[in-house]
Amino acid sequence: MIPAAGLETVIDLVSLRTSQHRSTIAIFDLDGTLFDNRTRTMFILREIAEKYDSACPALAGTFTRFQELSVVDYSLPVTLKRLGVRSRREKDFIEKEWAARFFSDEYQKYDMPLPGAKAYVERVHRAGATVIYLTGRDVGRMLVGTTEVLRLYGFPVGVAGTMTIVKKEFSQNDGLFKREVSGYIDRLGEVVAVFENEPANVNILHARFPGAVSFFVETQHSPGAPRLAPGIPRIKDFLLGGRAARRR
Ligand SMILES: [Mg+2]
Repeated sequence: MIPAAGLETVIDLVSLRTSQHRSTIAIFDLDGTLFDNRTRTMFILREIAEKYDSACPALAGTFTRFQELSVVDYSLPVTLKRLGVRSRREKDFIEKEWAARFFSDEYQKYDMPLPGAKAYVERVHRAGATVIYLTGRDVGRMLVGTTEVLRLYGFPVGVAGTMTIVKKEFSQNDGLFKREVSGYIDRLGEVVAVFENEPANVNILHARFPGAVSFFVETQHSPGAPRLAPGIPRIKDFLLGGRAARRR
């Protein structure tokens, strides 16, 4: 157990275990954890507005003005409401076009890494931990784009000491998937840190790996999420020094 949970402490522990010839693992979720997806949605909505301006007059109209990223909510219907899209028909059309793009290899490059994310993952990897990207994205539609965007931003990927675990089927429940996979991960070595933006998932992984520090990344998460279990530090980004993780 790490006494004072912090991003730097994780690296110290990994370095110690590496010097003892022991395997360590750090688990990173992607959406809302290492990456901010709001830019992906913003780009997609902008594209739909341009391409289908006659089918989406309200959306097209809204983009005649600059839109702040903060307009993008976790829920697309909420975002569209904020953007002034009222017609059911237009909303349905946009939601269909958005989903076809959002859950695809081609559009993941529009995500932006959280501040400090790349540098931090690199340091954890360099200290000797196996970095596992554990994501609810699915193999059929999103594995290639996932790998591409990790490489694009310089995250360690495809090399020794890294692993990408995605879902076989999109329809699988995220929490269930992560719980199932955790048995396999447990056999690989000592899990020292978990990073998650979904309260339900971080609670599951925290219970599954009580010896690790499970960090809750405060970005966006699904509505109706459970309360965080006690002892889970919160972080807003991966910048070291300035904003230390704090316990609730
Ligand atoms: Mg996530």
